[in-house]
Amino acid sequence: MTTFAAFGLEEDGLVLIPGTEYRVRQGALAPFLELSEKAKSAGYELRVESAYRSFDRQLSIWNRKATGKLKLLDANGAPFKELPKDEEVLMRSILLWSALPGGSRHHFGTELDVVDGKSVPEGYEVELTEQECDGMFAPFHKWLSEQIETQNSCGFERVFVSGRGKIQPERWHISHRPSAFELEKLFDPKALRKVYEKADLELKSAILDNFDELMHDYVYPYFVEK
Ligand SMILES: [Zn+2]
Repeated sequence: MTTFAAFGLEEDGLVLIPGTEYRVRQGALAPFLELSEKAKSAGYELRVESAYRSFDRQLSIWNRKATGKLKLLDANGAPFKELPKDEEVLMRSILLWSALPGGSRHHFGTELDVVDGKSVPEGYEVELTEQECDGMFAPFHKWLSEQIETQNSCGFERVFVSGRGKIQPERWHISHRPSAFELEKLFDPKALRKVYEKADLELKSAILDNFDELMHDYVYPYFVEK
């Protein structure tokens, strides 16, 4: 693996999670399947909503949000009527809910968004919100917290918890820490800056002008070390 693996620009070593369309790094698959078995024994069904995501996929999300083609939500979760005119304000508004291309932990292939498939009502479309975690998925999250606290979660932990960086808490997002650590070690901000300079990236100048701060607020707080 090279530094580009940490940005979702190198897909060697990714494997499909059986029965899904989602991929993870080889080393995270067996622990995930083990965690799924544990969940099953406890009466839950670990359903994957997202796993590996490529740089290009995140770039497409970013660019569509920056140009109003994809709905942009404010801090309260209400859609903006009009996009902020100031590039920096717009950039920070997108960052409330979406990661920078190259800056998403989903590029690592060691991160998954999960829900309890058994608790999803028929026809309901999962949104991945706090309300769902407090509602239909509350028993599942209580169980998951217990597994993490007692180190029975096969190496998985939550990373988007309050008191770290500027990303909102995401209970559904779990990280296979031993595998993620390998990707974190490969993450080279100088290489990412070069990728940005060449990429067809909306709000590029605002991103490059604030690059170090963005790394400090949205990337490094979630690393095991650094
Ligand atoms: Zn996630």
